[in-house]
Amino acid sequence: MVQKSKNRLYIGVDVGGTKIQASLVEDSGRILIRSRQSTPRELKGRKLVCSLCDAVEYCLNGADFSRKSLKAVGVALPGVVDQETGRLIIAPNLNLRNIDVRERLEAALKVPVAIGNDCDLGTLGESCFGAARGAKSVVGIFIGTGIGGGFVWNGQIWRGARSAAMEVGHMIMQIDGPLCGCGNHGCFEALASRTAVEKKIHQAVKKGQKTILTKILDNRLAIIRSGALRKALERKDPLTVSVMKETARILGYGCLTLRHVLDPEIIVLGGGVMEACGQWMFPIIQDVVKHSSLPGANTKSRIVLSALHDDAVVLGAVALARAIA
Ligand SMILES: [Zn+2]
Repeated sequence: MVQKSKNRLYIGVDVGGTKIQASLVEDSGRILIRSRQSTPRELKGRKLVCSLCDAVEYCLNGADFSRKSLKAVGVALPGVVDQETGRLIIAPNLNLRNIDVRERLEAALKVPVAIGNDCDLGTLGESCFGAARGAKSVVGIFIGTGIGGGFVWNGQIWRGARSAAMEVGHMIMQIDGPLCGCGNHGCFEALASRTAVEKKIHQAVKKGQKTILTKILDNRLAIIRSGALRKALERKDPLTVSVMKETARILGYGCLTLRHVLDPEIIVLGGGVMEACGQWMFPIIQDVVKHSSLPGANTKSRIVLSALHDDAVVLGAVALARAIA
């Protein structure tokens, strides 16, 4: 049980490929309760809504307050979301399309529901409660299995004409480069995501290069998580150091490109790779950005690591919910 709260309360839910995270949050952004459960396999429309309800109920049951204090629920989904209708258009990694998430969830929970894209909301979270508090224009870049991004301007998410803005992972960074999951070649994500790092390490190992990752992962190199990469960096494993150096340089050029396009006050870097290896990669990223030759592009711009870590998306969902009730 948590202490009684007189504040307006919100629940933010972040639906990921492996876990569904939810938190009960005061309107100040203070988190009262956190819950985390595995994302069910073969998620269908009804199952998604049930899982969301479960996550919300878990937060509510752990709290000692009147249900009336819950003003709204915000949901972050990894895909294209129609903010107006509250529908999930498509979430490729969850294999879901065309679900009226808001309508179904509002019917089940009897409170207003807002839904948004997870990277947009991660950026909104950092902008309202985290590393970019007080900044008027904020770009968020989230590096994990893929690369996603968001742009918040004057407290509002910039969605673009078709809700498809800030697909930063698919900026072409190398013409005719490696194939990306989207079908194009040379995307940012195909060059600098954790999946891209994994591929580069696999290729090097195939060519006979040795790496301490073999020992760290007990010979199972198929999936190389960010935590294992950090351990290998700590032990100065030459292969991991060289791949991650190159990855950090590419991330630096990604930041530079986004700055040239949008000129945000601040760029926040988050996601699993940055959580695990951000401190190590950060000086390399900054070095690339610092050496831009474009006159005037380097003044007063800041690049920072996420302050909210795993809570960024959930808190962004809360900020979105707070705006409707
Ligand atoms: Zn792509």
